[in-house]
Order: sequence, then C-alpha cells, then structure tokens
Amino acid sequence: AELWQDVPLAPPDSIFQLTAAYKADTFKDKVNLGVGAYRDNDNKPWVLPVVKKATAILLNDESLDHEYLPITGLAEFTTAAAKLILGADSPAIKEGRVVSVQTISGTGANHLGALFLSKFYKWNGPARVYLSNPTWGKPFNYIPSNILGTEGRSANHHAIFRNVGIEPVEYAYYDPKTIGLDFNGFIDALKGAPERSVFLLHACAHNPTGVDPTPEQWKAIAEVIASKKHYTFFDCAYQGFASGDLDKDAWAVRLFVELGLPLLVCQSFAKNAGLYGERVGALHVVSPNTETANRVKSQLSVLQRSEISNPPSHGARLVSLILNDAGLFEEWKRDIQTMAGRIIEMRRELHRLLTEKLQTPGNWDHIVNQIGMFRYARA
Ligand code: PMP
Repeated sequence: AELWQDVPLAPPDSIFQLTAAYKADTFKDKVNLGVGAYRDNDNKPWVLPVVKKATAILLNDESLDHEYLPITGLAEFTTAAAKLILGADSPAIKEGRVVSVQTISGTGANHLGALFLSKFYKWNGPARVYLSNPTWGKPFNYIPSNILGTEGRSANHHAIFRNVGIEPVEYAYYDPKTIGLDFNGFIDALKGAPERSVFLLHACAHNPTGVDPTPEQWKAIAEVIASKKHYTFFDCAYQGFASGDLDKDAWAVRLFVELGLPLLVCQSFAKNAGLYGERVGALHVVSPNTETANRVKSQLSVLQRSEISNPPSHGARLVSLILNDAGLFEEWKRDIQTMAGRIIEMRRELHRLLTEKLQTPGNWDHIVNQIGMFRYARA
C-alpha cells in the first residue's frame, strides 16, 4: 500500500483561499474583505514611511551581518517591545520580572505561549484553554460555499492550542441580539470555570467581532479573574490599530499587570508596523519575581531552540530602530494614526452611505460601534 494513502485531503484555509479567488477575479472594482491587512485609499498595501526610513538606515549600516540572533531574539527589540505593550514605567519591567522572547510574529507568540503552558502550567484538571466565541480563525460561515467549498474553514486559535495538546473550550462573548458584547455570559463563564483556568483574551480590536469590553467591563472581568485565580493569555495583534493610540490600546493589559494578575502577552507587529511578511513578534511572560522569570526564560529558550533555533533578524532590526529612536518613534505614531484614522473614517462613511444616502433598512450602528478592521454581525 502507498505510504500516505490514509492522509485525508485538508480543506484550504478559507481566508487565504479567498485572497486567491480575489487575485484571479478580473472585475475592476473588486474589493477583498477577507484577510485582515490594511489598504490605502488606492486599495494598495501601504509600506509605512517610517519603515522605509528604517530600511534605508539598515541598508547603509556596514556593521550589520547575517549571523544568528540569540535564541530569545534581538535584546534591543524585545526590551523595547515589552515597554511598548506594558508601558515604559511598568513596575513589572522595573522589577525585572518580565520575560520577553522574540517570536515568529503573533502566531509564533501564540504557539510558544501555548507550548510553554502545555509543558509547565499547573492544570487544575484537564489541559484546557477558554477561547471567546467566536475567535480568530473561527469558521467563516458567511462566505458563500461556491467560493470556499463547504469545508473551507479555518480556526487558528483552536488549532494552535490543539496542536500542543490543550483542548479549546468556548466562552460566551458575542451577543447576536445587541451585535455587541455578551457581558453577562462572559462573566458567567469566568465564574463557572474551575479555579486557575486559562482564558485567552484579545487585548483590543477583537478578531473577528471588533467588539471590545469598555474600561468598566474590563475592571469587572479582571475582578472575577482575580477571585478565580485564572491565568490570562493576552493576544495583542492590533496595538495602535484600534484607537490610533498605542497606550489606549494597551490599557487592558496594563490594568491586569497593575492588579498583579498572572499573565502572558502575545505581541504582533504585522498590522501596526505593516510588517506582515517579516514575522516580527514577541511573547512576554509577566512573572511574580526575577528568580521565577529567569527559570521561565530558561525553559522558553529550550523550547524555542527545538522549534526555530533563532528568530529572524531583519524585521526585528527594523522595529528595534523605530522603537529605540525618539524621532522614528514619533513618526511611527503618526503613521499608525494615519491607518487607524482611515479605518475609523471608512467605518463612518460606510455607515453614512448605508443609512443616510441609501436608507438601507435595518440598524447599522454596529459598523461604527465596533472597532479595528472587522465588522461582524451574525444571527
Ligand atoms: N492573533 C490575532 C487575534 C490576529 O488577528 C492575528 C492576525 N490575523 C494574529 C494573532 C497573528 O498574526 P501574525 O502572525 O501575522 O502576527
């Protein structure tokens, strides 16, 4: 018998299949509403001006070579990245208890974080992670099957945890009645889960709903998490992209750190730096003290070594330049505002056209109430 005859044919990834269908389409006014990648006014990918500048600096830097980075990545990058998400004055950073490891963008951070938990988390029962319903890569049931095929579905958060033997369970998040947050359902799930459960929370601009808790709701969520001793697995793929303000979008993460809740953060620079293909990201594990942080870091290094040996250098050098140079950092913030501002403006304009101009029946307020790149409404 043939060796691989029992390998079933897997369905293609729905989002990337949609991109292929889009590329093949010859209609001149086509629009791709699938993949979460920013487009400018001409419907083109946008290379951030600050990234162009940083690239030119790197090209002219004769001191650079192509040696391996350390296993945990470029230290100037990971240190600055931790400050970006946790805040420059973060007590956790000052106290030397944040472990930061460079990863293959946000996906790699999710994977390394999940792998670390699978090996070392003190599970209270079976190894489980609570994921919002829906979450990143949830089946895109609303994309017609003639484009995707009935099996063309992805489920990335689910798959990332399953891959390392952690079983995904869903918690209530989206409320079809309000096209907003099912706050009570969310709180009930937090209360109903066994103590010390692991909850994955989207730090801002929830994918795919664009529905985020308000600051008051975040405080209530944090309170239940504290009382139940849950572990928070923050996924932050859109810092700056939601509101246009890097600090505002990091607010929930910083609140949790301030409250002393045990957590890790997965960080991606794909969207906010427009570096999708460079795969720049980091995993930050906030530990109770330096001694624990050192042990955690040693094990993350062991895991990283067997997974990728060393992370890639180019994207990390670019982001490191931008984060560590005051002028470039200010310029980056302006570029982020350009992107976030355009997204917010497009949401407003779409809402206006649907309601005022076209008088489309129904309520379209979720288009402006939801945040980030996604618009979501499902019965
Ligand atoms: N998490 C979420 C919620 C996302 O939306 C994304 C990007 N689609 C990622 C993680 C990771 O993306 P990347 O690996 O490109 O950084």
